[in-house]
Amino acid sequence: AIMPTLLSGIANGARQGILFKNGAQLEKIGKVRAIAFDKTGTLTTGQVQVFQVISVNEYTQADVLKAAATVESYSEHPIGKAIVQAAGETVRVFSARRFAKAVPVESKLLNPKGDLDLVGAVQVQAVPGQGIVGIAQEQQIIVGNAVFIQQYVTNLPEELRKMAQSLEQEGKTVVWVAQGNIAEVMGVIAIADEVRSQAATTITRLKKLGVEQIVMLTGDNQETANSVAKAVGIDRVYAQLLPEDKLDVIRRLQQEYQTVAMVGDGINDAPALAQASVGIAMGVSGSDVALETADIVLMADRLEKIAVAMHLGRRSQIIVK
Ligand code: ADP
Ligand code: MG
Repeated sequence: AIMPTLLSGIANGARQGILFKNGAQLEKIGKVRAIAFDKTGTLTTGQVQVFQVISVNEYTQADVLKAAATVESYSEHPIGKAIVQAAGETVRVFSARRFAKAVPVESKLLNPKGDLDLVGAVQVQAVPGQGIVGIAQEQQIIVGNAVFIQQYVTNLPEELRKMAQSLEQEGKTVVWVAQGNIAEVMGVIAIADEVRSQAATTITRLKKLGVEQIVMLTGDNQETANSVAKAVGIDRVYAQLLPEDKLDVIRRLQQEYQTVAMVGDGINDAPALAQASVGIAMGVSGSDVALETADIVLMADRLEKIAVAMHLGRRSQIIVK
């Protein structure tokens, strides 16, 4: 049975925008010695926007955006949404059966001119942490990070690679776009994301609370990740991780620090959230899977509440003893 003190701790949390799914988690968060943060949508707002489009070969910037938006219109990923929005396209979620999550939404013309008229795509597959691929007008379209794109295209144009690298050093996330059944690179789309205003102070508070290890786990590339980590005060960065890799890092942290928390928002964070001693999800930007898997939900995405939750957890332990 739940102790009355735990119940009051849970109630206290709820009043402050922290949802504990059960009392055991309240106690556990008080014992956390290491915390892992996802980057996109967790340390950053995830309100990403297209910053720049670069095209190569015979393609125009509009060609690149349009091709990318054709498959991204099926995506739930913030990057996908940003690309669709930038393409000025009516947001149409086609009722493709294979997507359990695809819900028809009312067409909304984001660009009054509506000059980019998307065709539907078939066999669209989103690969968490990597990208998305689909077929439109019998042509394959691939959108994703460099690792993903290289499964389809053997060599990336050197000049474009250099431009991508300098954008990444500025903290932008670069997404590659390729098209064709023998795929050819069309260009890149640089995505800008904003660091959450409370991220740096949250990290400082957690360090003050005595958390011994704070790391960043991201599917994004090393350069972009380093730039964000530096901005928020995280020293240890694990980049270019697949969902299973995030889980592995959590396991290794648990061997060293026993009680480990993971904070995330995405489908790609779900395995790590499940493995962590305490899984914490972002209430607003969090995907359904992340919310279901987590033990604690931060309402209104208030990152700084993690420190409050730890404090409540520690207090509940003192009272129980
Ligand atoms: P994070 O771990 O920072 O939340 P993700 O794991 O969601 O990031 O994504 C990692 C990388 O995979 C992105 O930076 C992007 O390059 C690529 N990616 C994932 N999903 C998509 C998508 N739908 N379209 C394009 N790129 C994607
Ligand atoms: Mg994320």
